Amino acid sequence: MSDLTFADLRSQYQTGRSYVISGTGRNRIYEYRTGIQCAIGDIEKSEWCQMVQELIREKGEQELYEQLLQHLKNQNYARKSFKELEFYALQLHTERIFDNKSWVDFVKFNRKYRPEIASSTRLIWITSECCKRPGEITQAMMDSHSHDNRVCCPHCGRWAHYKILPTK
Ligand SMILES: [Zn+2]
Repeated sequence: MSDLTFADLRSQYQTGRSYVISGTGRNRIYEYRTGIQCAIGDIEKSEWCQMVQELIREKGEQELYEQLLQHLKNQNYARKSFKELEFYALQLHTERIFDNKSWVDFVKFNRKYRPEIASSTRLIWITSECCKRPGEITQAMMDSHSHDNRVCCPHCGRWAHYKILPTK
């Protein structure tokens, strides 16, 4: 465990299969296993969650994880259950989403919880056609949708056309 990294546990996709736990013929009883495929193998889902939680504790990132979970709770548009949100937060944590400058919530999250990261990132002022007021995005956010010249609006989250504002 102590040699593990978040990259080792980063989930690539989920696996699922049913298998017989007892009985034969028509009396067979099946169980369904959900697994997480990651660099070190296909790990059963609840075990994977425990491993990631343990790694978070080991790396002293408990607070960061709680902040990520809180952030997801606040924006729970899909109304996921707590268990689902927790799983989602663990997935995003192994992906180091909070360090990813093309993450649509990069500015919002880091402004709130890690101001030193937000202030050391070069931000671009834009105004989006939906909300029509200035907001900040990163260069990477702009690049990630450059093919159709839209960004995720920093105010309402819609994909919108925008204008770059001259820097102050
Ligand atoms: Zn907007």
